[in-house]
Amino acid sequence: MGAMGKMSTIAGCIGVVGLALMAGTIHAANHTNQIPSGIQRNMTVKVRLLDENGVMGAAVAQPKVVKTDAEWRRLLTPAQYQIARGKGTERAFCGAFYDHKKPGIYLCVCCQLPLFSAETKFDSGTGWPSFFAPIAAENVTNHPDLSLGMRRVEILCTRCDGHLGHVFEDGPPPTGLRYCLNSESLVFQEKKSAAKK
Ligand SMILES: [Zn+2]
Repeated sequence: MGAMGKMSTIAGCIGVVGLALMAGTIHAANHTNQIPSGIQRNMTVKVRLLDENGVMGAAVAQPKVVKTDAEWRRLLTPAQYQIARGKGTERAFCGAFYDHKKPGIYLCVCCQLPLFSAETKFDSGTGWPSFFAPIAAENVTNHPDLSLGMRRVEILCTRCDGHLGHVFEDGPPPTGLRYCLNSESLVFQEKKSAAKK
């Protein structure tokens, strides 16, 4: 029975990713057409970076990361591309990080900007990795999202506009916010041990 349950869960994950891939391709194409390449080429944004000891620095000006669809496809796996560049959503309980509890930092899968710390991660029960605050307010940008007949707030990586997920106002203290992430939009950097060899 356990094996059957697991198999149907896996099949569910694959099925949805497949469908989402098709939808995402169309969406990504439209999205690209709305933002002519070149407009953002010289733009800079203020973000915070981690120093070599993993300490967050002051806000610094960084060039916006802009790439063509073809470049993103080369850099990312199909699932990462579909979610981070095509604004898809991974199926709940299928991502790598919803139940991930190691200490460390979650970075943008597209441009490696630090986005969330494991210290603000909590178990929301939703099946998506959830945080009550970004690692730096500058690094995550909110954007109104009226798609799918809902009024939501999309969250984007400030440096590359990668789609991360959505933020909701039903989170725990101290912020009351729930940043609902896609694992595919993130890479994890485990915290370095304090005692260096
Ligand atoms: Zn990014």
